[in-house]
Amino acid sequence: TEETLQKAEKLSMVGELAAGFAHEIRNPLTTIKGFVQLLTETTNETVFTKTILDEIDRINSIVSDFMIFARPHQADFSTCNLASILQSAARFLEPEALLRNVIIITHFPNQEVKISGEKNQLKQVFLNILKNAIEAIPNGGIVTISIEERGKEVNVIIEDTGVGMTDEQLKKLGEPFFTTKAAGNGLGLMVTYKIIQDHKGRITVESDGPNKGTTFIVTFPYKN
Ligand code: ADP
Ligand code: MG
Repeated sequence: TEETLQKAEKLSMVGELAAGFAHEIRNPLTTIKGFVQLLTETTNETVFTKTILDEIDRINSIVSDFMIFARPHQADFSTCNLASILQSAARFLEPEALLRNVIIITHFPNQEVKISGEKNQLKQVFLNILKNAIEAIPNGGIVTISIEERGKEVNVIIEDTGVGMTDEQLKKLGEPFFTTKAAGNGLGLMVTYKIIQDHKGRITVESDGPNKGTTFIVTFPYKN
């Protein structure tokens, strides 16, 4: 027939295009960044150049976030140990937690719970949720990470004692560019939702309202 491209091939073309696009944006940015850094060293200008450098980093991180749509799905899935992924995400954010007087508590009754997935993407999911939890706590508090087995499913529960969310904010979660932060880009949860969807999981978010904290529950199919 005239159908020349299979769906998988088309998808991989979109992926390649997106990856190429990201590459084309990053290359000139790297050059700009280098010269701005040189400018900082050769002149005494630091205020403007710092803003330029910060904004370059911002563009870079937005490009990275959209790269998630460029990656092929399920191609790189393997058996992943949830507890170890959660531990490594928590360890990575420990310095930021310390700075904000946030204590991270883990509750993993079964250290051997396995799910099927792409390890780095799963780590990204928990980094995004944990980072938000820490950022939601202005004057010290607690973030609790739990693994809970429920028959054929497993829940990862991330609970914080932070600023909480209104119903209106809850509805907007996962929308690109929804942020309440001065320096936020509102892409973290969009990426998180996309990855969870690719892993045949789901996410539930609950908050009892402003200053009552927030709970994120991510559910995955259990892998025996
Ligand atoms: P960003 O962190 O850049 O703002 P995200 O997509 O990660 O973008 O989060 C979007 C918004 O969701 C945040 O700006 C915040 O308003 C809200 N949010 C996410 N997690 C929490 C949380 N644990 N507590 C309170 N608000 C949260
Ligand atoms: Mg975020």
